[in-house]
Amino acid sequence: MCINMQQKVAIEGDAGWDPCIVKQRCEMVRLWNRLVSLPEERLTRKIFNWDRANRHPWSREVSIILSTSDMHIMFLNNLQCNINCVRQRMFIKYEDQWKQDIWKKPKLRNYVQFKNDYITEPHIFFNLKRRQRSLCAQLRTSTLPLAVEVGRFKGISEELRLCEFCDLQVVEDEFHFVFYCPLYCDLRNSLFESIQLKNPDIFWKYEGDILCWLFENDVFTLAKFIEKAWYLQQSILYPV
Ligand SMILES: [Zn+2]
Repeated sequence: MCINMQQKVAIEGDAGWDPCIVKQRCEMVRLWNRLVSLPEERLTRKIFNWDRANRHPWSREVSIILSTSDMHIMFLNNLQCNINCVRQRMFIKYEDQWKQDIWKKPKLRNYVQFKNDYITEPHIFFNLKRRQRSLCAQLRTSTLPLAVEVGRFKGISEELRLCEFCDLQVVEDEFHFVFYCPLYCDLRNSLFESIQLKNPDIFWKYEGDILCWLFENDVFTLAKFIEKAWYLQQSILYPV
């Protein structure tokens, strides 16, 4: 699976882990806390004072971190900061930026329809088979090699990236694969039975909402369907 910047944003959001940049800045604040608590006569403290007075890069960066976390007063007065509070504020800002970024990525056109929050998704933390987890991630991030994705590399215009496995003459995208392609009708029965049983009203909603509900509430059934459907497609493409 080839990962580019667009998928990286989606994978980050699905993993929901603390971003590296937030962790790194928290460590800087941790060091700041240590330095401001050192006695003035210590050599390390003197070097810190010199760095701070001359606005050298390290101090300048701490100043930016604290001011963007609405804690600039701590920097101005050499005060220790609550690291959890800084982390929380940086995380909120990072999440806001992430929410804007996913809407700017054309390849994540479907992803934005079923993903809103920067949190760990069930297909990451539940005990799915490795293959199932990988296929779920590929489907969510539009890297599953369906016609809509493969056609992009072949230079085919989007409306002509049609499904080769049915006669519907429609673009083979993630929604066609999961909800509509007649090739997977039999496999889809168990998926739809599960929805019917647990949340029949969701059928009235848009495909993005249904997929979102499945990923959140019945990821095992969904993952099983994706895996079987994908094997079926591959067995047709590459018969042994
Ligand atoms: Zn089809």
